[in-house]
Amino acid sequence: MKKILVTGGAGFIGSHLCMRLLAEGNEVICLDNYFTGSKQNILELLENPYFELVRHDITEPYYAEVDEIYNLACPASPVHYQYNPIKTIKTSVMGAINMLGLAKRVKAKILQASTSEVYGDPAVHPQPEIYWGNVNPIGPRSCYDEGKRCAETLFMDYHTQNGVAIKIARIFNTYGPHMNVNDGRVVSNFIVQALQGKDLTIFGDGSQTRSFQYVADLVDGLLALMQTDASVTGPVNLGNPDEVTMLELAKTIIDLTGSSSKLVFQSLPEDDPKQRQPDIQLATQLIPLWRPHTALQQGLEQTINYFEQQLVYTN
Ligand code: NAD
Ligand code: UDP
Ligand code: UDP
Repeated sequence: MKKILVTGGAGFIGSHLCMRLLAEGNEVICLDNYFTGSKQNILELLENPYFELVRHDITEPYYAEVDEIYNLACPASPVHYQYNPIKTIKTSVMGAINMLGLAKRVKAKILQASTSEVYGDPAVHPQPEIYWGNVNPIGPRSCYDEGKRCAETLFMDYHTQNGVAIKIARIFNTYGPHMNVNDGRVVSNFIVQALQGKDLTIFGDGSQTRSFQYVADLVDGLLALMQTDASVTGPVNLGNPDEVTMLELAKTIIDLTGSSSKLVFQSLPEDDPKQRQPDIQLATQLIPLWRPHTALQQGLEQTINYFEQQLVYTN
């Protein structure tokens, strides 16, 4: 039985990861400061004797004896990471240093939840790992983008200088159950708006694109990447290459919910990337059994079911 630390384990992706790791017979320590995560996401795990919940902020040192670390702690929605940008970059950078220091001390393998945001507003499309990106270092998104870029640097340097076993996953837009009703990202915004009969808020003209990955597919990828040969450090893109415009996404969600909501156009946030699609050739070579299996419509149906229950629960 492995002892595994998941930072940000009470968040959207972290809660799914904790669940899978427990189901596969591991012992899990879930560490979270509850900035965007909640106990609600992990309520059903609290009874499990192999699950331990710790309130802790990863900008502070943390001591435990573990075999593997998944470092997910960091707000991921632009609304939340821009709320306190200094705290966001501290979480990425100081959090990475502390978790790498821990991994070094106990000789644990450590995986970093990096992001497609390291590519910024990409001039290369789709984005392969060898592309260095196009990031504004002083814009409203930079606390997140540059924080994650610096974390990647720290991971590589702890690996080369101290021999820490690392894996860097560059995660592309992921959605699914356990997103917060107030998360602020596009999939949850559109679904909640559609279910409540409110106008769907399209930022800009809606021609910008994203490629959405269902959370179960991502979790499969993260688990498989962690188990790759020690020579595999990444960065490795994990995403679903099926690319859509925000207008197409809005229309699909209106169709699937049967909502009478209309579209309303609002200004495009500064530095909002115009296009994004993962090149997943490297991932499919390194983890040959992994593929994003869930089609957008299928994943959206699951997510809509979840939000329907959440909205009843919170009303
Ligand atoms: P989320 O906001 O739901 O989860 C983040 C979790 O980290 C929350 O539970 C939050 O309370 C916790 N947290 C934040 N700051 C912390 C701190 N200083 N100390 C301890 N805990 C802290 O977001 P998510 O979508 O689940 O994202 C998880 C990770 O995956 C993040 O690192 C994010 O950058 C990365 N990621 C997510 C996506 C995506 O599309 N969902 C894409 C790329 C990368
Ligand atoms: N650290 C931690 N838990 C540990 C070991 C280290 O949180 O089990 C933190 C420690 O506080 C330090 C950071 O990780 O600030 C980096 O550790 P490292 O050993 O690389 O550096 P140093 O302690 O020499 O600054
Ligand atoms: N977006 C939108 N309406 C919303 C929220 C977001 O049109 O209510 C747009 C946003 O401008 C961006 C895309 O949807 O172009 C994805 O935004 P999100 O915040 O989900 O993720 P990110 O920009 O970090 O990829």
